[in-house]
Amino acid sequence: MRALYGACTSALLTTAVTRQSSLFSASKQQPCQQLRGGAISAKGGMAVATADDQRLKKGIAEFYDESSGVWENIWGEHMHHGFYDPDTVVQISDHRSAQIRMIEQALQFASVPEDSQKKPKSIVDVGCGIGGSSRYISRKYGAECYGITLSPVQAKRANDLAAAQGLANKVSFEVADALNQPFPDGKFDLVWSMESGEHMPDKLKFVSELARVAAPGGTIIIVTWCHRDLSPGEESLRPEEKRLLDKICDAFYLPAWCSTSDYVKLLESLSLQDIKSADWSENVAPFWPAVIRSALTWEGLTSLLQSGWKTIRGALVMPLMIEGFNKGVIKFSIITCRKPE
Ligand code: SAH
Repeated sequence: MRALYGACTSALLTTAVTRQSSLFSASKQQPCQQLRGGAISAKGGMAVATADDQRLKKGIAEFYDESSGVWENIWGEHMHHGFYDPDTVVQISDHRSAQIRMIEQALQFASVPEDSQKKPKSIVDVGCGIGGSSRYISRKYGAECYGITLSPVQAKRANDLAAAQGLANKVSFEVADALNQPFPDGKFDLVWSMESGEHMPDKLKFVSELARVAAPGGTIIIVTWCHRDLSPGEESLRPEEKRLLDKICDAFYLPAWCSTSDYVKLLESLSLQDIKSADWSENVAPFWPAVIRSALTWEGLTSLLQSGWKTIRGALVMPLMIEGFNKGVIKFSIITCRKPE
């Protein structure tokens, strides 16, 4: 079975990559090249979406519309990496707790206050998936939480799950763009983005919106995929590194990647405070091998085959995520800060 999967994987992967290689090339190049060139402004912060951005958004919405049910069946309500102790052997049954641990580690890293006076009362979950983080964090703090996603299927499922869990009066979900959020300035004590930043074609606009909707003194948490920091004197990633990331971009509907230090520079440029970052790549290392193992079970394979091409193509590039982490080009990063009072 595994050999068969391997053979199919490489054949389909080659086809997918050949067919799609230039799908988002303009979007892919723009923001991060400008970041690397030192001009922190990606598109001048304007809410002008290019045709490439629109195509990217449509692709993201369709990708998650199609694949979220498959993911939920196998992995549950959290669509993000787990946090593990480095170099441990993990069982499938460990994964839900590792995903919860990821949320807890992120809150702790950002020193989100827990005491009843200071704990967050109003939260936004930017790129909320089917709302796993929203419901967990809302319950933890007794806070209201608004989630936004590009996928109508996800927003509906997130609201249904909230109702089923008795949280309908606390959390709600809608389709909206993270780069143009439907919220007033200064609304949220906690601004949460778990593995959505990698989808954003304009990183400056993304972090500017996170900062805009944060309340004075509010905490911003970004957990995201980055590429490695460039060495002094390096202008860009090496060609073979770019080729690897391009293949992942095409299958997962990602624009250009940027580095952790690019994010830090952007947050500095917005005069945000207490900016901290960390590389958690070692802590997520068991994740993709586990996802691949679960895709290779009977249930995994049948769900995948019943899904659609976008989901299958996503599954086929999973080995490239492992390669990217092993080669040190992909980093799993957390970046946090506070909006000045
Ligand atoms: N944070 C969730 C889901 C991560 S998957 C979790 O941890 O479970 C990435 C999510 O980002 C998807 O819900 C996708 O719709 C959302 N997303 C990507 N680009 C977006 C954008 N421009 N605006 C709003 N949501 C976006």
